[in-house]
Amino acid sequence: MMSSNLFLQQPWRYACEPFQMAPHVYYVGNRDVGSYLIDTGAGLVLIDQGYAETLYHLLESIRRLGFDPRDIRALLVSHAHVDHCGGTRLLKEYTGAPVWISREDMAMYQQDVRLVHLGNENWIDFQPDYFYDYDRPFCMGNLVLEVVHTPGHTPGTCSFFWTDQDAHGEKYRMGLYGGIGLNTQQEDFLWQYPDWPKSLLGDFIRSIRSCQNRTVDITLPSHPNHTAPALFDWPASRDISRFVNRQVWSNMLQKRLEMALALENSRREKENGSV
Ligand SMILES: [Zn+2]
Ligand SMILES: [Zn+2]
Repeated sequence: MMSSNLFLQQPWRYACEPFQMAPHVYYVGNRDVGSYLIDTGAGLVLIDQGYAETLYHLLESIRRLGFDPRDIRALLVSHAHVDHCGGTRLLKEYTGAPVWISREDMAMYQQDVRLVHLGNENWIDFQPDYFYDYDRPFCMGNLVLEVVHTPGHTPGTCSFFWTDQDAHGEKYRMGLYGGIGLNTQQEDFLWQYPDWPKSLLGDFIRSIRSCQNRTVDITLPSHPNHTAPALFDWPASRDISRFVNRQVWSNMLQKRLEMALALENSRREKENGSV
C-alpha cells in the first residue's frame, strides 16, 4: 500500500493510541501502517518501522506503553517498501539495533531504489545487518519466530509466525502476512517498471495458498485495513481476547487469493487477445 498525499502532508492525523494485541505483542503503528512491538523478555523486537514521517508517533507509542525504545534489540523489515522501512535507519541509529531483511528485497532495493519508495515521501536509505534464514527461526528471549518467504507483493516479502503465551500458560498462535497488496501486479505498475518480473503474480498466488491453511489465532495485519473487520473497527476493549478469531486469517488470505486469481485471469485473456 502506498500513501496518499494527505498522509504525507499531515501524518499526525493518522496517529493512534498504542494497544496490546497478545500477551507480549503491541500495536505501535498508526492508522495507515502497522508496526508491532514484541517483548521477548530479553529485549524488544520491532516488526516494521513505518515512514520516516511517522517515526515520532512510533517512539511515543512505545514509551506510552511503558517501554524504552532504546531496549529494541532487533528491527525486522517485512518487505522493502517505504511505508514499512522509511523509519528503519533513524531507528537503527537511535537504538543501535541490527536490521533484518530478506536477501531478495535487498536485491530489489539495489536494483532500483524507485521500487522501494514509489511515491514522493522522504526516503532515508539503510543498510541491513542480517538476511533472514528461511531454514532457521529468529530467536530472542522467549520468542521463536518462524520467517516464511512469501514472494508476490515484492520478491522478498516475508511473513512471520510464532506462539505467544500468557502467565497462565494460554497459548496464542500469531501470524503476520508481510505484504498482500496487489498494487505491484497492476497494469500501470508493470508499464512503469518494465523490468519487474511478471512471474510475481504466480508467486503471489502460491505464497497465499501456502499460508492459507495455517492456524492463526491472532492476525497482525501489515496495514490495519487488511483484515475484516479492519483493526480499528474491533470492539473497543483492553481485553486481547477480542482479537482471537481464526477466521480473520483465512478470510483475509482468501479475499486476496480471489483478487489475484481474477487479475491472473484478466491478464491471460488480454494475452490471448480475447479482450
Ligand atoms: Zn505497505
Ligand atoms: Zn508494500
